[in-house]
Amino acid sequence: MEKICARFGDDYWLKRDRDGAFPEEFRGAIADGGWLGICIPQAYGGAGLGIADAAIMMEAVAASGAGLSGASAVHMNIFGLNPVVVFGSEEQKRRMLPPIAAGKEKACFAVTEPNAGLQTTKLQTRAERRGDRYVISGEKVWISTAQVADKMLILARTTALADVRKPTEGLSLFYTALDRRHVEVREIEKMGRAAVDSNQLFIDGLDVPVEDLIGEEGSGFKYILHGLNPERILVGAEAIGLGRAALRRAASYAKERVVFDRPIGQNQAIQHPLAERWMELEAASLMVFKAAWLYDHGQSCGPEANAAKYLGAEAGHKACATAVMTHGGYGYAKEYQVERYFRESMIPKLAPVSPQLILCFIAERVLGMPKSY
Ligand SMILES: Cc1cc2nc3c(=O)[nH]c(=O)nc-3n(C[C@H](O)[C@H](O)[C@H](O)COP(=O)(O)OP(=O)(O)OC[C@H]3O[C@@H](n4cnc5c(N)ncnc54)[C@H](O)[C@@H]3O)c2cc1C
Repeated sequence: MEKICARFGDDYWLKRDRDGAFPEEFRGAIADGGWLGICIPQAYGGAGLGIADAAIMMEAVAASGAGLSGASAVHMNIFGLNPVVVFGSEEQKRRMLPPIAAGKEKACFAVTEPNAGLQTTKLQTRAERRGDRYVISGEKVWISTAQVADKMLILARTTALADVRKPTEGLSLFYTALDRRHVEVREIEKMGRAAVDSNQLFIDGLDVPVEDLIGEEGSGFKYILHGLNPERILVGAEAIGLGRAALRRAASYAKERVVFDRPIGQNQAIQHPLAERWMELEAASLMVFKAAWLYDHGQSCGPEANAAKYLGAEAGHKACATAVMTHGGYGYAKEYQVERYFRESMIPKLAPVSPQLILCFIAERVLGMPKSY
């Protein structure tokens, strides 16, 4: 992985950050190396490895300097289709997984909605059954890679909220073609990771064959939940990788930059924050691999996966911020890359779940306090 990533240096990522073009060459190289299907079972063209292996891979991608631009360009391939692997029919697995493992198709993940936010059960996108088809209409927001995706994994309501026993019921999951005649994809201008687009989706009468419904109608929320823990573990690993890239640059700059007749890295006020960042990244990494181990061994890992995402995002962000400060004014110049890392380090903090909601989850599920949201 490191060898592949080394072919895409700082100039490449700086250029992608400037022109906003999707890193096709990078993604192609990862696909050619056979890495995209790392978690997809061998029977469907993947390598059949675990989430711990995928976490090592994604950390290495981000740590190479590709950062979140590189990681997000392949993220969905790595674990996005987990609901199909676990809940899809044999026919669906044979049809849907091999093109993703081979990198022939790109997929996006369409859950978030403007009027629901983190309260997923309030999503308003509707899928109506009409004979052998569903017709989907609604709005999604922040959907990454929808500019380039061929397919989307989309969560929509099939039974109105008023007609279900629990709000988590009545949501269904589909993996289907992103037919642009019925889906308008409007890019959101954003702070960082310009190379990997995030978008508003306006869906109007998207025709979906029943064969594209994953599992049972109405159980989509359960299927999505199943994939959340591995995704959190991977996002934590990506954030840690980004932090490591920042720390490497900061330490190297601190050794070279001479002010007051000595390298700035000889000052403890420069050394100590960097040493702390290293420890934080290491500690977060242990949590990532603890969560990954539990997941790979079929054990419950909700608190650990959430903690891995939280701690990884915090450690990654702090490392990027410290790297900017270590560079002084040059930390603000694009040439030194760390300002790009800093902007990208906000993403794992914000998505796929906010730090506040993780704290709420730990307080409730681990510490037994009353549910607050
Ligand atoms: C770059 C990027 C890429 C993304 N890619 C995708 C994607 O590919 N697919 C997809 O489906 N989504 C994607 N998202 C969406 C992301 O998952 C959501 O932004 C995230 O889940 C938060 O939802 P929201 O923005 O609507 O926040 P809101 O739900 O509006 O929350 C706003 C703030 O209020 C806080 N808050 C709300 N309620 C409480 C409470 N009870 N207690 C404490 N705090 C609370 C939240 O923690 C948060 O800080 C992406 C987002 C970003 C920024």
